[in-house]
Amino acid sequence: MPSVTCLAKEIIVKTILNKHKKRDDWFLDDYSLNPYKLCAFNCIYCYIRGSKYGQNMGKELAVKINAPKLLERALRRRARKKEYGFIALSSSTEAWQPIEEEYKITRQCLEIISRYKFPIHCGTKSQLILRDIDILSEIDKNAILPPDLGDKLNHGVLITFSLSTLDEHISRIFEPGAPKPKERLETLQKIKEEGFFAGIAYIPVLPFISDSYEKLEEMIKTAKEYNADYVFVGALTLFGVGKELYLHTLKIHFPDLIPKYKKLYRIFNYPSKEYQQKLENLARKLCNKYGVKYMIL
Ligand code: SF4
Repeated sequence: MPSVTCLAKEIIVKTILNKHKKRDDWFLDDYSLNPYKLCAFNCIYCYIRGSKYGQNMGKELAVKINAPKLLERALRRRARKKEYGFIALSSSTEAWQPIEEEYKITRQCLEIISRYKFPIHCGTKSQLILRDIDILSEIDKNAILPPDLGDKLNHGVLITFSLSTLDEHISRIFEPGAPKPKERLETLQKIKEEGFFAGIAYIPVLPFISDSYEKLEEMIKTAKEYNADYVFVGALTLFGVGKELYLHTLKIHFPDLIPKYKKLYRIFNYPSKEYQQKLENLARKLCNKYGVKYMIL
């Protein structure tokens, strides 16, 4: 049983496995599964902040205590109809955040996923994923891929580490509760040594902070050094309470950047198409230079 020192609420949810209308081109997921509500890593840029849950996500953190039971039911039904597809773990929480050590909801879900042979895409910043290497290996070997991906991939598990900077100081500011960038890279290295297909999502790259040619070059070069199978890069989106909090953080640590951000996010929640295209072109060029694959497929 979880200890009484645990601060998270326990909640009962009605559904746990979300079926996507269309597979995501970047993450290749057909489903998503979020064992927790919100996230204790508390990244300032987290897009979930744009929702109604406010400023301190760690305080509102909740454990979906009936997730394994619901997942069992959902996957039994989907497997019977052979509706196999990658499950993103997770899309709006961190599946291996500290509370998982006590509750093991993610681990219980992995056991069910393994039993029903669904493939998964793990997106994480956490070393705790190493705890589950045994089940992940089973899934990697035995998962049934959707027919249109079967000839393109030979792994049932994809593991993507997300970073927005390699700079420890910048990371402390924008990712106050998350493991250090170096720790994430070392976890990637260990995951690779175990034979998994794994890479890095540099998402979000922080405008005027981690998006220069030099910074991106260092990021792609580092991905190569840590043996990443792939890299992809994405721009920062800012909306709702999240935007206010991000601008407040800039005001404290990078006040000179405020006018530039106001201009970049003047109309939309995301930077212009030109900015995004430039970022992608640069990332692709650097991936070519260092022999790293851009995107999973
Ligand atoms: S680790 Fe991911 S889900 Fe958690 S706060 Fe950071 S960006 Fe959001």
